[in-house]
Amino acid sequence: MAYDLPPLPYDYDALEPYIDGQTLRFHHDKHHAAYVNGLNAALDNLAKARQAGDMAMVQHYERLVAFNGAGHFNHTLYWNNMAPGSGGEPAGNLAQRISHDFGTFEAFKKEFSQATATVEGSGWGLLAWEPMAGRLITLALMNHQNSMLVGAIPLLICDAWEHAYYLKYQNRRADYIEAWWSVVNWKDVAARFEAALKCQMLPMPAMAR
Ligand code: MN
Repeated sequence: MAYDLPPLPYDYDALEPYIDGQTLRFHHDKHHAAYVNGLNAALDNLAKARQAGDMAMVQHYERLVAFNGAGHFNHTLYWNNMAPGSGGEPAGNLAQRISHDFGTFEAFKKEFSQATATVEGSGWGLLAWEPMAGRLITLALMNHQNSMLVGAIPLLICDAWEHAYYLKYQNRRADYIEAWWSVVNWKDVAARFEAALKCQMLPMPAMAR
């Protein structure tokens, strides 16, 4: 069983002028594809290292599985979190939950933008559902997977690697993030939030109060 690169859910130039077509083409066809290939290769090599009983190489390929697998997942979420003719603000349960956990939508937006803008080097800004206590949290992931809260369910992600914005925005990461809000597909985020609420972990009592 191998992983596949899903097609971009819209045309390359569909998010113009906020995200340019040339960036999306390279980002999806080259960068995302490399993580899918890297994940498949790492899993093959992991199996070989296991077979050979080489535990040092098992550990090495486990790290590559985590890096490339998170790269594959994060990019797929990122494409689906965006859509042409979207932006604005969420509605319904998600909007209420954001107000409950962050105070206001504006406060959430500021916190998420800040998390994304200040990732050191390459990383992502993330909104996730934390099911232990039942709350929304923002996280700043380094690379693709570091600083993730295990158990949290990703809902909305913004790519802050330079390849996501450099052709159009150069070093102006904050300008890219501000433009990115104009293409956030809140319907998709809300659907992920509703699905996350139904996720059941095997109960482990007294994890939160
Ligand atoms: Mn990327």
